[in-house]
Amino acid sequence: SAARKHQSFKYDDLEIVQSKKLGKKPDWNKLVFGHNFSDHMLSIPWSETKGWDAPRIGPLKNIELHPAAKVLHYAIELFEGLKAYRGVDGRIRLFRPDQNMKRMNSSARRSGLPEFDGNELLRCMAQLIELDSSWVPQSPESSLYIRPTMIGNDPTLGVSRSKECLLYVISGPVGPYFPTGLKPVSLLADPSFVRSWPGSAGAFKMGSNYAPTILVGKEAEKQGCQQVLWLYGEDHQLTEVGTMNIAAYWTNENGEKELVTPPLNGLILPGVTRTSLLELAREWGVFKVTEKNITMKDIIKSIKEKRLIELFGAGTACVICPISRLLYLGRDIHIPVPVEGGDSVSRRFYNELLDIQYGRKAHPWAVDI
Ligand code: PMP
Repeated sequence: SAARKHQSFKYDDLEIVQSKKLGKKPDWNKLVFGHNFSDHMLSIPWSETKGWDAPRIGPLKNIELHPAAKVLHYAIELFEGLKAYRGVDGRIRLFRPDQNMKRMNSSARRSGLPEFDGNELLRCMAQLIELDSSWVPQSPESSLYIRPTMIGNDPTLGVSRSKECLLYVISGPVGPYFPTGLKPVSLLADPSFVRSWPGSAGAFKMGSNYAPTILVGKEAEKQGCQQVLWLYGEDHQLTEVGTMNIAAYWTNENGEKELVTPPLNGLILPGVTRTSLLELAREWGVFKVTEKNITMKDIIKSIKEKRLIELFGAGTACVICPISRLLYLGRDIHIPVPVEGGDSVSRRFYNELLDIQYGRKAHPWAVDI
């Protein structure tokens, strides 16, 4: 009902139980993404009959699930990914976390799971990060990765809405995506694999979008590529790269410098990094900014006419990921990459975002915890 939809758990009801046994810190210089976890987790159960329970922070522990739990069979699951950055001033900041809360609620709605007040969750998460602040790396390129998750844990089989759900948040330290600076990647662009299509759930951060990509990633590796370029449609539109949005910087056919990225047409995830690049570029006002489909034909033509300047992925994990090669229909396509020390739009984005995230530049997008 409408009334229930607007109900939410409240930060004021948060209970905290501190862990008696604190984990050993890993070697900060050898962090592997997703392998280390901080001491505590936030858990908030929900049921259709009782609504949201009080939020609880307690020791990180295994979750007990009935073997029939809907999440295990029908993948009723969604998640978010954001980072806490320890700034040059020692303060800990999140980057546009309201955007993650908005997207999480939109994924919850698409999954038939309950919505909540993102602001209340943010306040609980800030407490969690505060409690585990010794896990936020000091290094100017590492961060604490935060993974809010929701699962439909109704212990019944049958494809129907989950009458029970668990929202939880875990976190763990992660190193720089590219320890040796921006490193260009190669992509398998095989139109026979499709990540999403009109009417699919491609614009939502649901686990069910990712499981089918594992095999394709393996195929890319087999063919000597590092990631997958997801194409869509007869005209082979570029949609996303791996788990990143994609953007090109080129001289368009009218001779104008232009940043172009696919539109939010339901096929792609509305990335926080993507939105931020668009907003920054529009604020700079030094080149045209366009949201429109890019086809493989556009890319090939722009290379032939020496108009393509850069092609790159954008996401929370790496911020910016330059692309140097596409394997497309059995053909290698070489993409120009910015030369070290040269002028580069992607590097300007990268530096600007890192300056904001690590507190070198005051900006409303960086939110103190
Ligand atoms: N596309 C997909 C499929 C993703 O999983 C992600 C990572 N969340 C992104 C794009 C980038 O989104 P963001 O900038 O919010 O990390």
